[in-house]
Amino acid sequence: MRVLLLGGTGEARELAARLVDADIPVVSSLAGRVARPRLPVGEVRIGGFGGVEGLRAVLADFDVVVDATHPFAQGMSRNAAQACVASGVPLLRFERPGWADRATPSWIWVDTHEQAATVAGELGSRPFLTIGRQELARFVPALHDHEVLARVVDPPDVAIPPAWELLTSRGPYTLEGERALMADRDVLVTKDSGGELTWPKMEATAELGIPVVVVRRAAAPAGVGTVAEVDAVLDWLRGL
Ligand code: NAP
Repeated sequence: MRVLLLGGTGEARELAARLVDADIPVVSSLAGRVARPRLPVGEVRIGGFGGVEGLRAVLADFDVVVDATHPFAQGMSRNAAQACVASGVPLLRFERPGWADRATPSWIWVDTHEQAATVAGELGSRPFLTIGRQELARFVPALHDHEVLARVVDPPDVAIPPAWELLTSRGPYTLEGERALMADRDVLVTKDSGGELTWPKMEATAELGIPVVVVRRAAAPAGVGTVAEVDAVLDWLRGL
């Protein structure tokens, strides 16, 4: 059984390591978005497939697909669902749970990044944006004149407003570091990414009494089974 593992997350790297350990042939696929990606063990391919049709062509070499992309990589998940149905290749979604169970009353949930920008602009003058490089442009209209601190792994392609400060770094982050970073911030904006690696920022906001604007996840493609644990993926593969 040859597995195509759509990755780009810590969970996908963990899964790749378990599959390699179990002698299950796996190729991890990365989009190639960041300059120096953390590579999973085992075989890796990097770069887009060229849409649904491109992915369908690649699927000829695989028996199953595990979609372990980030919860906000919705385009890739949609393409995987369409290509797998069209090719008759079993697909499983492996997704970390979101943070809803840990929410506090100081979290404000929104559906889009534009709404997040508007709400953050109303709540504070010094927002801390942790929504990734690709979404930054969506915050510029509402927050152009705010003293934004934007944390990204790689610098964005678009110019940022003069009032903004860019911080390039990559998690995981510590509570101590997040506390220091947010000491003079008055609102945090995040996606509902889930997981532990970036959770300390949420703890810091609770300590400092800073409101959090959280962008909700979109619904997953219909008809795709989803699990949240590596063991459940292995069980599914064994079942096949
Ligand atoms: P996206 O918007 O869902 O995908 C856009 C296009 O990028 C896809 O149609 C595909 O191109 C290519 N692509 C995405 N993931 C790929 C993968 N694992 N392997 C090969 N091609 C891939 O994705 P995104 O939000 O830009 O995220 C890109 C990658 O970064 C994902 O792998 C994701 O796991 C990771 N990531 C995303 C976020 C986030 O917040 N979005 C955060 C952390 C990590 P083609 O159409 O040419 O096949």
